[in-house]
Amino acid sequence: MKSRRDIKGTIIFSAIWVLIFIAIGIFSTSCPVESAEKNEVSDIRYWSYPDYTRVVINLSGRAEYDHHRLSRPDRLYFDLKGSILKHDLQKNIAVGNGMLKNVRAGQFAENIVRVVLDLDKMQSYKVITMEDPCRLVIDIYGKIQTSSWKKKIVLDPGHGGHDPGAIGPKNLYEKDVVLDIALKLKKILAQDRSLEVFLTRETDIFIPLEQRTAIANSKGADLFISIHANASPRRETKGVETYLLNWTNDEEAMKVAARENAISLKKMKKMNEGRDVLDIMLSDLRRDTKRDESVKLANLVQKNMVNGLNKSYSHIVDLGVKQALFYVLFGAQMPSVLVEVSFISNPLEEKLLAQDSYRVELAQSIASGVSKYVSALPEEQIVAKNGRNIAP
Ligand SMILES: [Zn+2]
Repeated sequence: MKSRRDIKGTIIFSAIWVLIFIAIGIFSTSCPVESAEKNEVSDIRYWSYPDYTRVVINLSGRAEYDHHRLSRPDRLYFDLKGSILKHDLQKNIAVGNGMLKNVRAGQFAENIVRVVLDLDKMQSYKVITMEDPCRLVIDIYGKIQTSSWKKKIVLDPGHGGHDPGAIGPKNLYEKDVVLDIALKLKKILAQDRSLEVFLTRETDIFIPLEQRTAIANSKGADLFISIHANASPRRETKGVETYLLNWTNDEEAMKVAARENAISLKKMKKMNEGRDVLDIMLSDLRRDTKRDESVKLANLVQKNMVNGLNKSYSHIVDLGVKQALFYVLFGAQMPSVLVEVSFISNPLEEKLLAQDSYRVELAQSIASGVSKYVSALPEEQIVAKNGRNIAP
């Protein structure tokens, strides 16, 4: 028989464990179960930048996972349930960038793969899940970036390389159109000495969606603009629209995001239903003003694009500002929008998109929207054109 002291000890001990379990987040990747087979951890990649690192764990299907931070030594671990390691997976990855020392993966138990991130100096982190392939994205932030007097803009021409994006009836490729528009836009914006402009790609190369946001975060960008051309099975559909990241019930918006994310509409709908999982990712979006700023930016870009095109072209359809869950905007640390510059699937708009003059007009009108947004930023963020910060 236990003494009263022993019982008291047991209660305290149990209470501590309950608290520990509450503290450990138990989440699940939103990917569907593909088969009765165990989930396989097939690849671990990372992108390293001075104050930011993105680690991506590729999985073959759905996996429940716990994650927790431990001290001495400081580390972050992820236990992927019902999972096995691919036999030829690199199990020890040395990073050594000041934030992250190593990434280690091991078969912790018969059914559990443990991925450990050995930390050096981490300020904060964030976990995001994506599908097709199913992947766990972990963003690690180092020290807060010191702001330069220049505003940094990252432009992201969609697709590239083996991914042509949407293809028009006359065989025009989205990847070529949006790259040209982005290069033109960069040239226009770069004339303003208070702006520094980067492109996620300047040539016809493929970049994964998760790397594009990583580039913007690594630059400490103030704005992120992803540029795309739209497509619809209905050939008559046309117009321009601008998106920001958020939930949606709009079927058409979901279709656009499903296409740009390279996932099925069914999965896209599920993602919009499975709010609890994505809430981890979107909670900080709600907390701060980034969403409001993205709305402002989207409205200015959309309005200027429509007005600019209307000067030289008739029948421009304003489809307005919309929201949807675009992978390319997941985890962006700055106001960010995705622009659909016209429908490449519409014969008339494909013809226009093939014209240099139309692309120039698009670039100029997006640029004027961006300029208006930047000049409307709060006073302490405005920098003088001569290079000195005018804030006190
Ligand atoms: Zn696209």
